[in-house]
Amino acid sequence: MLIELLEEYFQREEPHRERDYFYVSEVGKCPRQIFCTVKGFPRPPLDGQTARKLAVGEDAHRRIVQAMYGLGIVVAAEVPIPPGALFHGRADAIVSLAGKNYVVEIKTVHPYNFDQMAISPRRDHYLQLQLYLHYFQIPQGIILAENKASQELREFVVELDRPEVNRVLAEFEALRETIFLRGELPPLPDKSDWEFDQCKYCPFVDFCRENISQLPKPAAPLELPKEPPVLPEPYEARIIGLFDEP
Ligand code: SF4
Repeated sequence: MLIELLEEYFQREEPHRERDYFYVSEVGKCPRQIFCTVKGFPRPPLDGQTARKLAVGEDAHRRIVQAMYGLGIVVAAEVPIPPGALFHGRADAIVSLAGKNYVVEIKTVHPYNFDQMAISPRRDHYLQLQLYLHYFQIPQGIILAENKASQELREFVVELDRPEVNRVLAEFEALRETIFLRGELPPLPDKSDWEFDQCKYCPFVDFCRENISQLPKPAAPLELPKEPPVLPEPYEARIIGLFDEP
């Protein structure tokens, strides 16, 4: 009764934006999925449960940034990458600790992934932070992970990894040419370094299977001939009454 109303309230269509850049959050994502998103291929609306999960993540970010403000260590929060870059995105915060600035990337993670991150961060989180370090020219940062179920915290202090940054920039520069300049569907990706099977949750499986690189153009509206209407000839009708002979 109430659940159906709430599901409907939370579910939403994701707007399609024309763009010629990537989001930092797309590092580690399947390039074909990025292609389909950029080209505005149809996808089901975001269901209520997923939308609520995202909202919980946003609340956690706000709570942690507020606490860091309370500690008096925040230099800046929600810091955008300078305009015109290959990537767009906002770092959660830059903090000052013992006289050094650190870019902080906050991640709320599923308990299973949190356990997987016992000794090292997730690769996509690591690469995303590397891009912020590169664009802000800050040589160190912190990945702060919160367990979604228990709110346990874990942190990884990382240094700028120049070879990895250069590799990611070169990879996405090539992808920019494929997608934005040539409008081509990228080849099937090497899935060996994926954190999880992205195909399982992909909304574009059917397009990908058929190698569709362009949506069919919507049919033009039917043009009907504009001829004057044919009116019936005037005639004299003999009105037959109910009791008349035929
Ligand atoms: S089905 Fe798999 S390979 Fe294809 S676009 Fe989706 S995630 Fe990428």
